Amino acid sequence: MENRIFQKTEIGDVPIQPADQAEVPEIAGVTVRVVEIGEAATQVDTQAATKIDVRHLNFYYGAKQALYDVTLPIRERQVTALIGPSGCGKSTFLRTLNRMNDLIGNTRTEGEAMINGQNIYDQKIDVVFLRQRIGMIFQRPNPFPQSIFENIAYGLRIQGKSRHEIAEIVEQSLRGAALWDEVKDRLKSPATGLSGGQQQRLCIARAIAVKPEVLLMDEPASALDPIATLKVEELITELRKKYTIVLVTHNMQQAARVSQFTSFFLSGRLIESAPTAEIFTHPKQQETEHYISGRFG
Ligand code: ADP
Repeated sequence: MENRIFQKTEIGDVPIQPADQAEVPEIAGVTVRVVEIGEAATQVDTQAATKIDVRHLNFYYGAKQALYDVTLPIRERQVTALIGPSGCGKSTFLRTLNRMNDLIGNTRTEGEAMINGQNIYDQKIDVVFLRQRIGMIFQRPNPFPQSIFENIAYGLRIQGKSRHEIAEIVEQSLRGAALWDEVKDRLKSPATGLSGGQQQRLCIARAIAVKPEVLLMDEPASALDPIATLKVEELITELRKKYTIVLVTHNMQQAARVSQFTSFFLSGRLIESAPTAEIFTHPKQQETEHYISGRFG
């Protein structure tokens, strides 16, 4: 994959250098944003099955409509990045996928989101079970004020697992979140003593311990330093082999580095969704092109 994009400008299509050679912050008065397409984007599986099929989704905070007629198939074992300017509805959309918005009063969802033939918005659905199947990682890591071990064991104990099973799953989950080697000698220590990046990986371990199918990540690295961010991004690439991932990011470079599909939102509407390399090289919609080239947002 060639890490080069062409930028439409007033003087025609201008090739943009890869980020490390970039010397073109401005062309013909237009500020261009250089987005380097990552290796992950080349691993797109356009034939991947649909894991969550969102159809004609509208969402309201009281009288204020925040999402308009969003239809989007979320592909299985692929990373779908949600991008768009602040306030465009990315987080709201993410939270509709495991009904986290139900926790906000006076909200309303219309439309459907099917997972394995079941509508997520069905009144009869067991929301606690749904949130295990569709786990969530937040912007700020939120470990419980307990030991590293207990952070993961807690949910398993509620599920009625035996002590032996719990110990086994805690280890598997910490390994799965690329944290085991760093914490195996201090499992009884408070989770709050870990660095921000470790805490975030602990939260990922906690989410995967209950065997989810989908992981929703709401700007999971935005509170982390660059090295911790890199670790979380590497982990996302690893996790994709087992889980379907939906990632909200305000960082287009991150979307281009880790995702296979990218969806661009603007003012509560899904403007365009396509394989990541396509979105960042040949977007079909003018609004997408304006956004990725840095004309707004
Ligand atoms: P993004 O994640 O793209 O920044 P959000 O989903 O947070 O956007 O917000 C979409 C719109 O919904 C914004 O106009 C925002 O002000 C509004 N909004 C978000 N959360 C709430 C809330 N709890 N109550 C009312 N309005 C909200």
